[in-house]
Amino acid sequence: MILIIAESKEGKFKKNAFEIATFGSRIAQETGSECAAVVLGSHENPSVLGKYGVPKVYHVNNDKLDNFDDVAYRDVITKLADELNAKLVVLPHTAEGKGLTGKLSVAMDAGCISAVNGFKVVAGELNFVKPVFSGKAFATFKAGEGKLVVSLIPNSLQIGEASGYEAEVISKEIDFRSSGIELVEKNVVTGEVPLPEAELVVSAGRGMKEPSNWGIIEELADKLGATTACSRPVSDSGWRPHHEHVGQTGIAIRPNLYIAIGISGAIQHLAGVNNSKVIVVINKDPEAPFFKAADYGVCADLFDVVPRLTEAIEKFKAENN
Ligand SMILES: Cc1cc2nc3c(=O)[nH]c(=O)nc-3n(C[C@H](O)[C@H](O)[C@H](O)COP(=O)(O)OP(=O)(O)OC[C@H]3O[C@@H](n4cnc5c(N)ncnc54)[C@H](O)[C@@H]3O)c2cc1C
Repeated sequence: MILIIAESKEGKFKKNAFEIATFGSRIAQETGSECAAVVLGSHENPSVLGKYGVPKVYHVNNDKLDNFDDVAYRDVITKLADELNAKLVVLPHTAEGKGLTGKLSVAMDAGCISAVNGFKVVAGELNFVKPVFSGKAFATFKAGEGKLVVSLIPNSLQIGEASGYEAEVISKEIDFRSSGIELVEKNVVTGEVPLPEAELVVSAGRGMKEPSNWGIIEELADKLGATTACSRPVSDSGWRPHHEHVGQTGIAIRPNLYIAIGISGAIQHLAGVNNSKVIVVINKDPEAPFFKAADYGVCADLFDVVPRLTEAIEKFKAENN
């Protein structure tokens, strides 16, 4: 049995829940195993995971689980995994997942492979693949015979096509301890799609020269309905907030469209964005490494091109609405 942990926010699944469901159900298919999901806290529609190949969802509906609590989550998942005799537990390598993976593997007396981005079955044996050296190489780990906890880097794979199936939802009551930490206040940024879930991303780097020039990036993103991102030196210098930093040490994304403006395309940056479906690069240096990873490249001054691109999109939208 493979048990996947499906993350939610405000009672709705996050994008990574569908990715984890796709991942777990594919492993189950290829290894002749079963896959089930656990959903913690209040939820509007846990059965939707059936569309992504997970036939059973265990719903532990307790409002004390609505907000992440590593001790409570660890207890509930460990007990459920034990009851279901789950050999493999898969969770997302998100902020919450990172806080849980190690604790869970200790509590379950299981092995642990964190930050994988794929799996393969070789001669009937399950292996997990993990990017190493900034994505320049891949290490393969054999799952072995014992229990295992694995975390999947968000946006590592294409979410499976949604089918018409609904999962069977089984309500569970499980006793758990709590860390004793209480959420006192939560201030959530609203309006913009969070970067890990965004399908359109406009990103800019040090080529912007200074933070006051970001107006043209925000305008372009606004016209496209895109989320904004940036390279690491930009957030390190305080030009943009840290939650916009993409790359090896930032957020890994998988949008349909990634527009990189004034970013050189260093390997550490590419490690977080090269899963994008279409990459457009705007850079004035024809030797910029990013052009090698681009589907479309514009070799020109960004201060000239970006406002014209925004204008063209505006015109296109006006003519086609
Ligand atoms: C351990 C480690 C981890 C790292 N992790 C990350 C990470 O997660 N994410 C990340 O982004 N970086 C990361 N870095 C840093 C990375 O190596 C690069 O230094 C960084 O990505 C460069 O940022 P940049 O492309 O914005 O700046 P630069 O390298 O300075 O490039 C600016 C680009 O803008 C272009 N440009 C300048 N003016 C214009 C103009 N007017 N019009 C058009 N183009 C223009 C230039 O030609 C140039 O290509 C990491 C580094 C290390 C050592």
